[in-house]
Amino acid sequence: MSNQNELLASQRVLSMLESACEYSEKILDNIPSVFVVLNEHNQVIRANHAFCALTGCAMENALHLDFTSFFTTENREILMRHFNHLRTSEHGEATVRIKLEISGSDSESLGKPFYWHIFQLEHISRAEGRVISIIGDDLSGLYQSELKLMSIFSSIPLGLMVLNRHGGIEEVLSEYCHVLLNRDALAGESLQAILSRENPESQTELAQVFSTLNDCAGKDKSIFTTYENVLHEIGYLCVDRGGSNEKWIKPRFQPIVKNNMVDRYMVIMEDNTESLTAQRQIEKADLLGKQAQALYECAIRDPLSGLYTRLFMNDSVKRLVAEFTRGNIAELSLLMFDVDNFKSVNDTYGHAAGDTVIKEFGRIIRHCLRDTDIPVRYGGEEFLVALPINDTQELGGTIVAERIRSQLENTEIPAGNGKYIRVTVSGGVATCRKRDTLGDLIERADNQLYIAKHKGKNRICTQANDGQE
Ligand code: GH3
Ligand code: MG
Ligand code: MG
Repeated sequence: MSNQNELLASQRVLSMLESACEYSEKILDNIPSVFVVLNEHNQVIRANHAFCALTGCAMENALHLDFTSFFTTENREILMRHFNHLRTSEHGEATVRIKLEISGSDSESLGKPFYWHIFQLEHISRAEGRVISIIGDDLSGLYQSELKLMSIFSSIPLGLMVLNRHGGIEEVLSEYCHVLLNRDALAGESLQAILSRENPESQTELAQVFSTLNDCAGKDKSIFTTYENVLHEIGYLCVDRGGSNEKWIKPRFQPIVKNNMVDRYMVIMEDNTESLTAQRQIEKADLLGKQAQALYECAIRDPLSGLYTRLFMNDSVKRLVAEFTRGNIAELSLLMFDVDNFKSVNDTYGHAAGDTVIKEFGRIIRHCLRDTDIPVRYGGEEFLVALPINDTQELGGTIVAERIRSQLENTEIPAGNGKYIRVTVSGGVATCRKRDTLGDLIERADNQLYIAKHKGKNRICTQANDGQE
């Protein structure tokens, strides 16, 4: 009874094994990879659907075909070498993986790249000899993607290359590297040497960068972050300085990590020529602007008195007259001053003393005015002040002129050798009328100044209001 049970049980196990075997055969038949088993003569003794589809043979015709006949003579030799190696190695490799193109019967499978996994089976059949099985994976899809990726890499305006730890160019990943560095052959060259040749002024900086790269290689990837600032400090570098189109880059270095160790480097070189040129032009324009501003300041400021020059007056006082004409300013007074007997100051105390008088008088004028008033050194010892008045609270032109005159009269001015002198000034005041030009206004103020001189100097004369608006 128990024997019968055991028999039944082993029969059940056998049938389970049989159906498992059938099942795995079915799987092999339908896997997308090519699957074949070869006898000692490299003849197909088992093939799946993918093999038949690839070679265009019906399953029954596939048997005993020479597997190597699907390859070119050259590839067949490679394949045979591997087969022989597997078959003869007693304890060596049991499998090999090779990339070989198949030259199939139809144009579609012709030249298709495949990855072949070749296994040496333990089992030696008396009829078939030492059997090997092969699984082949079609890599053409992968190749296409790789080619697409490479064409993207090649067409972007970025220089991408792989460097070894010594700064040698191992692989050029983008065509633009050749454009940037203006060289056809780059592989094997030293990037440090190329960059140093074009940038002798940055040689020390470059040496530091490349020795940092060398130091980090072979070490844990975390070390790279501690050195990153050294690598970032490198400024713009000129590549192809001799060429007609000078190009500038700022290289960035990224570690290529293998087993958590820095193995090699990816260099990313962006063409910064345009942005650098633009930046330089902005800087130049800025400098020119500053120089122009300084020149303008020089042109509009009289250094001795600290007052404006006639150049500035032409712009600014003319504008005030126009504002008055438009009714934006209630009243516009023009004050003209001429230092009395100035020639004799020069003659008696020297030119330097005369200069001190002009300087002091300039200070007094500025002190008596508001920001909106415009004081001008009109000539040697002649001064002019434009006084816009909007408010009845504001002092009129005559009062301001009188204040300036009296302040100068009461100021002791150093004349050298410990001496002090007092100087007086005469002034003429005119107020703007509608339709006046700046010339009209100056002429009337000058007339009043002339009157003040004639009346005995050290006084202010104002044009009487003759009813004209
Ligand atoms: P008046 O009272 O009639 O105005 O007589 P004045 O001597 O002041 O007039 P005049 O025009 O005869 O003399 C002006 C002098 O001012 C002549 C010139 O040498 C001198 N002068 C002009 N500019 C400067 C200057 O920047 N520094 C010095 N020290 N003297 C100057
Ligand atoms: Mg004068
Ligand atoms: Mg004078």
